[in-house]
Amino acid sequence: MMTGSETNMVIGTQWGNEGKGKIIDFIANMSDVVVRFQGSSNGGRTIFACGEKYKVSYLPSGIHHDGKKCLICGGVTLDLEKVSDEISMLNDAGVLKARLTISKSCHLILDYHKKLDVLDGRIFGHDRNRTMTEQGFGHCCADKYRRMGIRVADLLYPDVLHDKIKEIIAVKNEYFTKIYGEKPLDPDELHKKFMRLGEKLIPYIGNPEEIVEYSVSKNLGILFEACDGALNDVERGFYPYVMPLSSLSASALAGTGLRWNSPMRIIGVVKAYSTRNDSGPFVTEESSAVTACLRKRGKEFSGVSMEPRRVGWLDMPALKYAIRENGVHALAITKMDVLSGIDEIKVCTSYDVGGEKKEILDVTDKDMWNAVPVYRKFDGWREDLSLCSDLKSLPIQALDYIKYIEEETGIPVMWVGVGADWGKALFIRR
Ligand code: GDP
Ligand code: MG
Repeated sequence: MMTGSETNMVIGTQWGNEGKGKIIDFIANMSDVVVRFQGSSNGGRTIFACGEKYKVSYLPSGIHHDGKKCLICGGVTLDLEKVSDEISMLNDAGVLKARLTISKSCHLILDYHKKLDVLDGRIFGHDRNRTMTEQGFGHCCADKYRRMGIRVADLLYPDVLHDKIKEIIAVKNEYFTKIYGEKPLDPDELHKKFMRLGEKLIPYIGNPEEIVEYSVSKNLGILFEACDGALNDVERGFYPYVMPLSSLSASALAGTGLRWNSPMRIIGVVKAYSTRNDSGPFVTEESSAVTACLRKRGKEFSGVSMEPRRVGWLDMPALKYAIRENGVHALAITKMDVLSGIDEIKVCTSYDVGGEKKEILDVTDKDMWNAVPVYRKFDGWREDLSLCSDLKSLPIQALDYIKYIEEETGIPVMWVGVGADWGKALFIRR
């Protein structure tokens, strides 16, 4: 039973784009505190406020509601330009109403990180570049672990920031001029630019970690909202086709004020089929008229260029793996409506790897690249699920599909998405 005074986490159990937004929004509405704890600008969402639509990547759900606390904790890597634009946009429109707090320990993605991504593309080529997405995320994380990152806290000390930039740019300019034959960057100009953009963040810099700790102790309703998908985790995903930081639920423990013993419900979002944006192993991928139809109906296109996503069937060993790695307590199945009209729905139950049957996903197994999916087939349904307003009205075949996922994973399904609109979702258990 959802009470509004509990801690929930919503994570994606596939490769991102599972449709987390709707359930995140629903739980954010009944929570007091909403926390971003990992990822970067890949956490895109749409906010509806005052009759307008706003696209944001960083500001947590619920940012347009009075009285909520919205926190960006240290595990989030912030693109300084994007986050300062988002703050300005929502402030100018008068819809930034929650109390926003940004951690001093967030690392900043800066101009030179993005420039290095683009230049690397010259060497790695397009395919590798898709993983990097030219957003500077990877280079920022590399700098974090090389201990030459710039953090939000540095914006509070202009002189210290200036010294740091000078030191870092001296190194970066070696790469730009000697490896890539580019012009050197000017550290003074960058300092001025970062201070100008940083001004927008300064009123919100604080200690969100303390707010989380306090909120847990007072039994407030807290939502931890993840971005991306569990299979893109840097440690436990298909390395190197992963995000440069952890996307597992456990990453919330590192630096948000949450403790191991804090009671929490982890909700894993799973799309009724699979998609993947980048390259890397995708055993159930299929290029057929049926998956082309799923792509079109599910609007599976990415980014500004609307690049078609890779589409395939639900991968049960991969879902079980994500559930295990993240300690998922409940599932939310999205986009069930997209499967309407498909005669035969397939689910991969195991892999055939060189004649050997494997039921457990091993992301380090190079043979997974050549794994052949072993499918179980389900009868489809013709009804338009978006017209269903309760479970009883779902066709028996759709109920069988949900029941199968529940039985196979051993995890209760609490919610089913039956349409793109906000209200198009059915609760099975609250
Ligand atoms: P995220 O990347 O996991 O955060 O996914 P989003 O919340 O951004 O959702 C991606 C798209 O899927 C959005 O356009 C949603 O409207 C759409 N979507 C989410 N749930 C459903 C669903 O149950 N059915 C359909 N048809 N579309 C959905
Ligand atoms: Mg999204």
